[in-house]
Amino acid sequence: MDIHEYQAKELLARFGVASPEGALAYSPEQAAYRARELGGDKWVVKAQVHAGGRGKAGGVKLCHSDREIEQTCENLFGRKLVTHQTGPEGKGIYRIYVEAAVPIDREIYLGFVLDRSSQRVMIVASGEGGMEIEDISADKPDSIVRAIVEPAVGLQEFQCRQIAFKLGIDPSLTQQFARTLLGCYRAFTELDATMVEINPLVITGDNRLLALDAKMTFDTNAMFRHPYVAELRDKSQEDPRESRAADRGLNYVGLDGNIGCIVNGAGLAMATMDMIKLAGGEPANFLDIGGGATPDRVAKAFRLVLSDSNVQAILVNIFAGINRCDWVAEGIVQALKEVEVEVPVIVRLAGTNVEEGQKILARSGMPIIRATTLSQAAERAVGAWQNDLSQGVKMRAVT
Ligand code: ADP
Ligand code: MG
Repeated sequence: MDIHEYQAKELLARFGVASPEGALAYSPEQAAYRARELGGDKWVVKAQVHAGGRGKAGGVKLCHSDREIEQTCENLFGRKLVTHQTGPEGKGIYRIYVEAAVPIDREIYLGFVLDRSSQRVMIVASGEGGMEIEDISADKPDSIVRAIVEPAVGLQEFQCRQIAFKLGIDPSLTQQFARTLLGCYRAFTELDATMVEINPLVITGDNRLLALDAKMTFDTNAMFRHPYVAELRDKSQEDPRESRAADRGLNYVGLDGNIGCIVNGAGLAMATMDMIKLAGGEPANFLDIGGGATPDRVAKAFRLVLSDSNVQAILVNIFAGINRCDWVAEGIVQALKEVEVEVPVIVRLAGTNVEEGQKILARSGMPIIRATTLSQAAERAVGAWQNDLSQGVKMRAVT
């Protein structure tokens, strides 16, 4: 789960990480008002979207008056910001953060990530802040400093001093730098984050250390332990198909193809997508209904997949261990009764109560295309989709 920059700054502030004074606005007038409240004569207007690279995309602007702030915000609010991280569709701007502009002397990159090879939290830092870490590692790989944290003892002050030394930070700021690192590490572990990134962490003209940007990502499965963080979720920044699924307790990833997949288990979902590709099709999604799926849950999954207008065929592939094929079959029949399904539905069931499941499908009288093996299912799904497509094209040509 991602959160906005202003929210990450607010959370990190509780752990002693300093950033410039700022305030949130939901309209251009409010932004100007906020700037007057903050005082000063230079502000930075920052579009709050769940993506980096906003500066280059025009989502971060320096302003010198409240009029300028209002005008800048009028151009930003309601627009989609397209950065190299958002994809071509961009992300909607509905919140803007107004922050005091600070004089920057030096920009530092600071990141906390889970390093899978060492199975530890790793600190990644570089004196080349402001650039994206991907560009730093391509252009200036030698500037990157790494440190691994031993979980039994946590981040140690000497490690912070070592990093400060390697980055050439002035000794007068070492203590503050260490406090920033220790605060980020505590926030990371105590809030079940999977990533904390401050880019840039700056040294100001008056020798202060401030986080000018902040990004935090959390382990969604741990959010029940942190209701305050869970509430920071902003659905306007998510793929609507994925947020609808999350609300229904389903694991869903939207993709660009046309064949909707309803599968149980992530491994089987991956295999199903591979088989669809092998048969010449493209999956429209990855939907894992999980173990122990009730008819109701299957029906929900159906409605969800069908709500994606790109879906032109649905492949249900269930290998029932904990699941029961008869329940899944009942769910499919229930969904087909409730929802008008105009696309071919291909079902492959295997495992617990498969005979019962097949009977339910056959007895329903629904136009369900059945398959016994995974490859057969994928071929039939792609075949039915192509067939439908050619008929659709013909029909459109006639009218
Ligand atoms: P993004 O990483 O999405 O482009 P940032 O918050 O990092 O957005 O802002 C981009 C750049 O704008 C920063 O690298 C910094 O140079 C400048 N900037 C951001 N906030 C401030 C601020 N409060 N004062 C001065 N410059 C800022
Ligand atoms: Mg940044």
